[in-house]
Amino acid sequence: MLIHLPDIKSKLGETLDYSFQVELDDYYDDFPEGGKLTMQFNASYSEGEVLITGSFEASITALCSRCLEPFLQVQKADFNEVFTVTQHGFDEEFSDSLAEEAANRLVVSGDDLYLEEYVRQLIILSQEYRPLCKPDCKGICDQCGTDLNQSSCQCSKGEEMIDVRLLKLKEYYSGS
Ligand SMILES: [Zn+2]
Ligand SMILES: [Zn+2]
Repeated sequence: MLIHLPDIKSKLGETLDYSFQVELDDYYDDFPEGGKLTMQFNASYSEGEVLITGSFEASITALCSRCLEPFLQVQKADFNEVFTVTQHGFDEEFSDSLAEEAANRLVVSGDDLYLEEYVRQLIILSQEYRPLCKPDCKGICDQCGTDLNQSSCQCSKGEEMIDVRLLKLKEYYSGS
């Protein structure tokens, strides 16, 4: 997943189309269950900057936040980004101003713009905080651990609340 900068520098004012289709575990350790990533974007070069615009779709195995079962989650997002091309290598000493620029902007040096880390961030940012295997997932019972999507159990919370109220009623009647 890279853009060879001489390619787009030689097509000044034009955009080039890119598409990648990869297995996530070929590139990343973050997704041990694997998954597929497809990405399409176009890139152009102008005045020391690479502009990319496109979208990605990742199918990733996620754990449901309610029932804890793994399920295939599809994440999609659009992106557009500006990478600043610098003459300096990352290992060379940056002047103060350059270092500051590097902290706030995406900087690329050399002939190839590697997209792995940028895309990793995109995927992580698009992940849901509390993924659900389905919108109405019933989750697991927090008392006996039964997966309530598969079967029901005897310790339903609703009944327990009623039980408490009944107990209060009993106390009331026995006290009068
Ligand atoms: Zn679930
Ligand atoms: Zn239960």
